[in-house]
Amino acid sequence: MTRPGGTWRNWSRFERVRPQRVEYPRSIEAVQRAVSAAAARRMPIKAVGAGHSFTGIAVAPGVLLELPDLSGLVGVDVERGRVTLLAGTRLHRIPALLAPYGLAMENLGDIDRQSIAGAISTGTHGTGARFGGIATQVVGATLVTASGELLRVGAGRNGEIENAELLPAVALGLGALGILVEVTLQCVPAFVLHAVERPEPLDDVLSQLDERVSSADHFEFYWFAHTDRAMTKTNTRLPESAPRHPLSPVGKWVDDRLVGTLLHQAACSVARAAPVTIPTINRLSVRLWGDREFTDASNRVFATDRSVRFREMEYALPADQVRPAFDAVRALVDERGWRISFPVEVRFAAADDVWMSTAHRRPTGYIAVHRYWRDDPAEYFDAVEEIMLRHGGRPHWGKMHSLGADALRARYERFDDFVALRDRLDPDRLLRNPYLDRVLGG
Ligand SMILES: Cc1cc2nc3c(=O)[nH]c(=O)nc-3n(C[C@H](O)[C@H](O)[C@H](O)COP(=O)(O)OP(=O)(O)OC[C@H]3O[C@@H](n4cnc5c(N)ncnc54)[C@H](O)[C@@H]3O)c2cc1C
Repeated sequence: MTRPGGTWRNWSRFERVRPQRVEYPRSIEAVQRAVSAAAARRMPIKAVGAGHSFTGIAVAPGVLLELPDLSGLVGVDVERGRVTLLAGTRLHRIPALLAPYGLAMENLGDIDRQSIAGAISTGTHGTGARFGGIATQVVGATLVTASGELLRVGAGRNGEIENAELLPAVALGLGALGILVEVTLQCVPAFVLHAVERPEPLDDVLSQLDERVSSADHFEFYWFAHTDRAMTKTNTRLPESAPRHPLSPVGKWVDDRLVGTLLHQAACSVARAAPVTIPTINRLSVRLWGDREFTDASNRVFATDRSVRFREMEYALPADQVRPAFDAVRALVDERGWRISFPVEVRFAAADDVWMSTAHRRPTGYIAVHRYWRDDPAEYFDAVEEIMLRHGGRPHWGKMHSLGADALRARYERFDDFVALRDRLDPDRLLRNPYLDRVLGG
């Protein structure tokens, strides 16, 4: 992430910073020393994960902590199906760490490049109306607070419980409450997913949306603007012993690398040079993409390859507002005559009790819009954001949005409790950055 010369950039290349110092702590004690040293110098400090947030949430202008050496499994409670991971562990490493214990993460987002700490800190989620985001899998965490002390919250490595009342805040802490060093997850027995991916008429999908969402374990759809088709993904959970029919290596290469990356990248370049071609390209994409059925280990089905760089805004809506908000986005694209090459993605999640979760206390649907990273997203994202706000939307903390603390306070009933905890754990704002100043107040 941090390149020679000292510049850090996020994945979408929208955020960059030249930190005053970059450190690679190799132990929890080294994180404590780094925090105490930063406090003594009055220099802000921040840990980063994989830099996959589209917002400036991970920007560290003072001391930047990279945690590749704080990675791996440090405890397993086989009886309860819980594992404790060092906070820098990347999601794609976790399945192999859990396999010997016959465990898996309950649900995942579309990719697995993120660190566990980064993923939970921004509310990363997948889809499935009966399943929460990754932060809902957190049953314990250990953080180094701004004083340099260790704070254990919820279940620890040995099953002991401490400060349980703080768990709903710490599980999704925006990187504002401390540096996470360990995260304990409640896992589930390893399972297999049967995946069905189909192009379907968009109007049919929309008219049956409630039923499709409630009858499937994991349902989502993509809509390519300027077409009347939806690409649906319906995943069904099966026991680990179920027969597997994975994609063939060649088929996977064709879908993920050739179509998903190489042709998609070429299409984005053509579309940028000649936007008039976008409707034709989108119609072609719908034909080439996603008419397949396979069964494989859960992590191999949840996580996909996203190599073409883009920028994204995603809003969480009360589930019953998804349809009207989606219709408004569709009408907007038609009215404005824009040419949009990346699809609109619609997903779902269960209500939860995590204070800053976008699904806090309400069954939720997500609408995400994307633009190729070289295109200016402002006009499209601003107009979509207005629609989302009208429908009670809460922005994903790691994806582009324009809201500040006042607007967010009105959307989160535990906002002031979260800020009060921040005041207690980081009174001098050692963990601050401009994004946190904006969304939480200085
Ligand atoms: C291609 C792509 C696909 C994506 N797909 C999805 C998806 O399907 N669903 C979804 O919800 N999101 C998705 N995202 C967004 C992404 O999951 C989140 O932005 C996530 O936070 C990124 O994790 P990261 O490890 O890169 O964290 P970073 O972006 O590096 O950091 C995020 C936050 O976590 C904090 N943090 C990191 N480590 C620590 C630590 N040890 N202690 C305290 N705070 C810490 C940072 O300070 C920052 O505040 C996607 C992003 C990309 C680029």
